[in-house]
Amino acid sequence: LFVIYKRKDERQMENFRFHVTTDIRFGKDRLDELPDVLNQFGKRVLVVYGGGSIKRNGLYDQVMSQLAKNDNEVFELSGVDPNPRIETVEQGAELCRKEKIDVILAVGGGSVIDCSKAIAGGTYASGDLWEMVTKRAYLGQAVPLVTILTLAATGSEMNRGSVISNLKTKQKLGFGGPNFLPKVSFLDPTNTYSVNAYQTAAGSADIFSHLMENYFDLTPGTEVEDGIAEGLMRAVIKNVPVALDTPNDYDARANLMWASSLALNGLTGASKAGTWSCHAMEHELSAFYDITHGVGLAILTPRWMAHVLNERTTPKLARYAKEVWGVQEAVPELAARMGIQKLTDYFVACGIPMTLPEVGITDETNFEAMAEQAVASSAIATKAFEPLTKEDVVAIYQACMTPTTYL
Ligand code: NAP
Ligand code: FE
Repeated sequence: LFVIYKRKDERQMENFRFHVTTDIRFGKDRLDELPDVLNQFGKRVLVVYGGGSIKRNGLYDQVMSQLAKNDNEVFELSGVDPNPRIETVEQGAELCRKEKIDVILAVGGGSVIDCSKAIAGGTYASGDLWEMVTKRAYLGQAVPLVTILTLAATGSEMNRGSVISNLKTKQKLGFGGPNFLPKVSFLDPTNTYSVNAYQTAAGSADIFSHLMENYFDLTPGTEVEDGIAEGLMRAVIKNVPVALDTPNDYDARANLMWASSLALNGLTGASKAGTWSCHAMEHELSAFYDITHGVGLAILTPRWMAHVLNERTTPKLARYAKEVWGVQEAVPELAARMGIQKLTDYFVACGIPMTLPEVGITDETNFEAMAEQAVASSAIATKAFEPLTKEDVVAIYQACMTPTTYL
């Protein structure tokens, strides 16, 4: 064994920093901890939420009763859209400045949390807040953020990233910084019982995608990261059907929720190049057509895998087929194709529409512009698992127009 390792001396793990300080309060019936959590930062709280799901499932009332009991000064910003908009960020930042908010409490899914992060930074950033986003890195001060997660998907509850859309310029961009990391996140799986089948499947596709984006990378020496990712992928595959069948299955929801956080808190991406292909391509779909993020990823991912399948990428795709999907096939290329087919069949079984026309994208008019922007706003043309040119991206979008099989 020693000799084998010595011979592979070109394999060296990259340096990395892992500093994720979010205090996770996982489990049910923990909201009575909220007052003490908020009191660390002050009494003036801005509660940010979306289109009303938290009012329908009773969470809003539970939160408000804790805040009333704690004598908080409460301000509200509601109506955060899925694919949150820069205009909402501006509105929230204005409110934080005017009301001297001490802490933001985000109650919702990734969109509400991302929007709250941008508001937290936007409160201190000067000038045009869209410029703050386009700089991609935010190193300034931010209002402290506490989250109550209601949808297992993005990992935003335990990371530094935020994705904001600008419908005027048809852009959707990720940006982030150390001060966006939530101080405390409440992860109560029962808060996701009311997530419908479509959003459950879409959110899980997003978790799965975060794992695959980190996994498909050629940085050497990443056994730990890849082993964790494979385990998390298997957990998602096992638990989504249970959650779809029985929405209030505690353990299924709990597994999906924890997988959401671990998939994108830096753990599976440590030491990796960090160039994500499908997210770069999906952000253009959402920017141009405002579709559900996880659905766009599910449609793109198998086509992307098939497009990048070549001599160099086959071993990793074959390993994925074996470790994640249990494919027992000795010929690597065939194994890889079987893995891509398994992924497709799985998304179909989850009820995810698997072509672009099914989500309302019926012609190819914008593909060139979208591909150009995907290449310009990311490193997919240079540093990806398999670098993609604008023409590659157009071809992948085109492959998404019709149902596809890979065997
Ligand atoms: P979302 O956009 O936050 O929510 C989707 C829908 O689910 C909304 O209509 C929401 O309704 C509803 N919903 C949420 N919780 C619910 C509950 N408990 N019961 C019933 N309905 C519920 O979905 P998401 O997938 O979490 O976030 C997507 C956004 O995050 C995208 O913009 C994506 O690009 C971004 N993203 C961010 C990161 C990151 O690291 N920061 C990573 C990946 C993706 P209400 O509005 O009524 O609550
Ligand atoms: Fe995502």
